[in-house]
This record gives sequence, C-alpha cells and structure tokens, in this order.
Amino acid sequence: MDFEFTEEQMARRKEFFDVCKELERQKPPEYIGFESAYSDETCWEYDRHCAKEFAKRGWLALEWPPEYGGSGTMMDRVLFSEARGYHGVAGLDVFGVGMLAPTLFAAASDDIKREFLPPIAAAEVTWCELWSEPNAGSDLASLTCAAIKKGDEYILNGQKTWTTGAHKADWGFGVFKSDPEARSHHNLSFLLLDMKTPGITVRPLPYMNGETIYNEVYFDDVRIPAKNIVGQENEGWAVVNTLAGFERSNIDQIMSMVRGLEGLVQYCNETRRSGQLLAKDPLIRNRLAQTACDIEAARTLAYRVADLQNRNEMSLMDASALKVFASDLGERLAFLATEILGPYGQVKSSRWAPMNGTWEALYHDCFVFTISMGTNEIQKNIIAWYGLGLPRMK
Ligand SMILES: Cc1cc2nc3c(=O)[nH]c(=O)nc-3n(C[C@H](O)[C@H](O)[C@H](O)COP(=O)(O)OP(=O)(O)OC[C@H]3O[C@@H](n4cnc5c(N)ncnc54)[C@H](O)[C@@H]3O)c2cc1C
Repeated sequence: MDFEFTEEQMARRKEFFDVCKELERQKPPEYIGFESAYSDETCWEYDRHCAKEFAKRGWLALEWPPEYGGSGTMMDRVLFSEARGYHGVAGLDVFGVGMLAPTLFAAASDDIKREFLPPIAAAEVTWCELWSEPNAGSDLASLTCAAIKKGDEYILNGQKTWTTGAHKADWGFGVFKSDPEARSHHNLSFLLLDMKTPGITVRPLPYMNGETIYNEVYFDDVRIPAKNIVGQENEGWAVVNTLAGFERSNIDQIMSMVRGLEGLVQYCNETRRSGQLLAKDPLIRNRLAQTACDIEAARTLAYRVADLQNRNEMSLMDASALKVFASDLGERLAFLATEILGPYGQVKSSRWAPMNGTWEALYHDCFVFTISMGTNEIQKNIIAWYGLGLPRMK
C-alpha cells in the first residue's frame, strides 16, 4: 500500500488530533485507559462526554455507508483511532462501535441494521461482549450457555464470564448454543439482548488491583425476541469469526504506546540516577531505541490491516499477526518502563509515584491484551493454519 496520506486525509487527521487534544485537557487524572471508565464514576462520565462529542461530529460512524451517516473511509477511522490513542481519550465503545457495528454491516438483516446502528452512532447505548464461559474460552465453540427458540422468543439459560463492562452496558451481543443436538460449530446463534431483561444477573469479578471492570453474567429463563438474531440460526459461528477480525485490529493501542514511549524518553532526559542522566545509560538508550523501532513496525502493520479491511481483503491471519505483535510489544514496553522507573514505579496514588502512577497501572493491565480477544497462543495457531498452511495438531 501507499503510506503517503492525501491532503484531504492530512486535514482530517489534524481535525481529529485537535479535538482529541482538547478532550485530553478535560481528562480526569484517574483515567488511564478505556477500562477506567468501568471502574470509576468520574471516568464513566468523562467517557460518555467524549462519546457525545464524537457522535455530534459523526465520528462514531465514520466509515459506515452514507445512508447510515458515514462520511469517510476505513483509513479515516484509523486516523481517528490514532488521535484518540495518542491523546489517551475516552469515548469509543470498543464493543458497540469497534466490533458490533462493522459486524452488523457484514452479517445482519436490514431490519437489525436499522434498529441497532443509529443508537450506536449517536452514543446513546453501550454494549458488552457475552462470549466466554467458565469452560469455554479458547475453545469457544464448546460453550454451553443455551438459547432455545420457543415461538417468537429465545429462552436463555447458563453463564458467561469475564464480561468486560457488563455492569454498565445497556445491551450485549452474545453467542449461545441454540441446538443441543446439532454438530459442533453449526449449533450456535449470535444474539443481541437488552441487559435489563428480567432473569439476567451481573456479578462483579474483582480484578487483582481491586477494580471492578469484569463480570460474571447469569441467565435464568431470560426471554429475548427471536428477531434479535444476527445471521442465520445455528450459523452464529460465522458471525463470531467476522467480529473477531474487527476485534483484533485496533490501532489506538499502538498510538498510546507512541505517547507512552515519548513520556518515558522525556523522563530519561530529565532524571539523574547516581549523578548521571538516565538518557546517557547505554543499556536504557538501546532498549528505548529498539522499542521505538518495534512500535513503528506495529504501526505499519496496523495501516496494512486497515488498508486490507478497506478493500475487503483482510484474512484472519492479518488481524491475528497484528494482535500478537502489538500485545507482546505492549507488555515489553510496560516491563521496560517499570524497570527504568525502579522501585518507585510500583507506587500509585502518591506524590512519590513517577509519571502520576501511569506505569504502575499499565503494568497490571498490559498482559490483558495477550489473553483477551483470543490468547496469543490461539492467534499463532490461526497464523499457522490460515497464513502458513501448516497442518492442524490433534
Ligand atoms: C481481562 C480480560 C477481559 C476479558 N473480556 C472479555 C469480554 O468482555 N467478553 C468475553 O466474552 N470474554 C472476555 N475475556 C475472556 C477471554 O476471551 C478468554 O480469557 C480467552 O479467550 C482465553 O480463554 P480462557 O481464559 O478460558 O483460557 P483457556 O482457553 O483455558 O486457555 C488457557 C491457556 O491454554 C492455552 N491454550 C488453550 N488452547 C490452546 C490451543 N489449542 N493451542 C495452544 N494453546 C492453547 C491458552 O493460550 C492459555 O494460555 C476476557 C479475558 C480477560 C483476561
């Protein structure tokens, strides 16, 4: 692909960066990443404020077809993500805007699109992802949470787990076993459900730092309209695969690394240890430079994935390769930062916490991306099978 941006794209990019820079000024200090919105009320209000600012500019629907309010291309979406990631601002519901909306365009009926897309574009609703279960994570197709059709309803029974933000979400998209007799992968349906439906219980799954971001969700004879299906009954696995591609191709995480590295470089340029500037330590310089090269490679890979998505040519392997590379890199960056900061790097909520405790929080969070959205080991299997044509292991 041609990495040169057009003048129009550069103008758009500037507009995105200007708005995000202003929203960064309004950011509460507690806001570290999109998950902060789920654990802190001030961060949640900030998230919704940013979402409304984006919605009124039409930016939550950027690459959508014009009849649904779209005004740009997939590359505009990438440039917008870069701006949000660099300035670390909230306001994009990763589940509704990032994953579900493009999936609905690819797989849903016109009725579903007309009902569910406008509230997403207007930032009127937030979503959560109801996939994983206690005994079905990597092997998602073995899930047991049931959705059995009776008349014009599905009746849901069972449990989901790890559901990020379920306690805040208005709606959830999930995959359920709709035929207990049918063969594997042809027994699942992809459904949309109102999280306030009677029979749904959301219980917090406290994270190791004490925050409430993730949840268990229980379904006890939950009745949802049968019309809320995406794709065909028992063929939800195809929809899962479509959505998974969108789930793994976010560039904002990479841009937040660019910003994180800039902060780290500044810290090393200003901080002396044993009388010497950290920036003059050859080991630190070497590792910062290597990280800068890796981030640039990740960014290029993300542009490539966006370009392939734009042309409807993206394979499962491309998104998986980016996911593995970017999440491993995020982990290496957080480890490097806490090594450079030394013991004070473990301090938070204190005047002794360097860089406002940001790296203490990112150290806890960095490995999440290597597990969620399908672990990196599973992504490597996908690369081996679909990308390299290697045989499957029994
Ligand atoms: C912070 C966080 C947030 C999450 N948010 C959500 C959410 O919002 N919604 C949702 O539905 N889910 C969510 N998840 C769940 C996530 O998708 C699963 O944790 C993930 O798919 C792994 O499943 P598991 O935890 O059951 O691990 P397992 O599948 O039990 O895997 C355990 C280990 O075995 C490895 N492994 C398993 N099978 C293979 C294989 N075939 N080849 C090689 N290695 C293998 C895995 O890589 C892993 O290291 C979240 C998870 C985390 C940690």
